[in-house]
Amino acid sequence: MIAKTRNNTLKLADYYMGRDAEYRGELTRELRANARDIVRRVNRLLKRAGLMRKVTSGWRPSALNATVPGAASGSKHISCLAIDLEDRDGALDAWCMANLPALEELGLWLEHPKATRGWCHLQTRPPRSGNRVFEP
Ligand SMILES: [Zn+2]
Repeated sequence: MIAKTRNNTLKLADYYMGRDAEYRGELTRELRANARDIVRRVNRLLKRAGLMRKVTSGWRPSALNATVPGAASGSKHISCLAIDLEDRDGALDAWCMANLPALEELGLWLEHPKATRGWCHLQTRPPRSGNRVFEP
């Protein structure tokens, strides 16, 4: 059987980045549900924006997160509640900033583009400030 590939949507595998095999013990049912949820929401966002983006950082098991320069120790990437997408031209960040009601509708929060040059960080839980667009 030939698998149909749809290049215009992100896959769970894109989000796990192969870490689901290496860190299987850490990947709880809750984390798997969170991962499915963020991939679904972000695919809806990309479709609306008419953009395709690669995942530059998806799930980060806590041991791995500790080795990422500048990564927060309580990063939402650890619990599969955050994603980083390649955004070299800044078009996705710009689209998000211009379409905040869409983010609200989809249940996504954006790290301020000035803090994420070259990529776009989205998450499925509000930051402490509760702001749709937040400072790290
Ligand atoms: Zn991030």
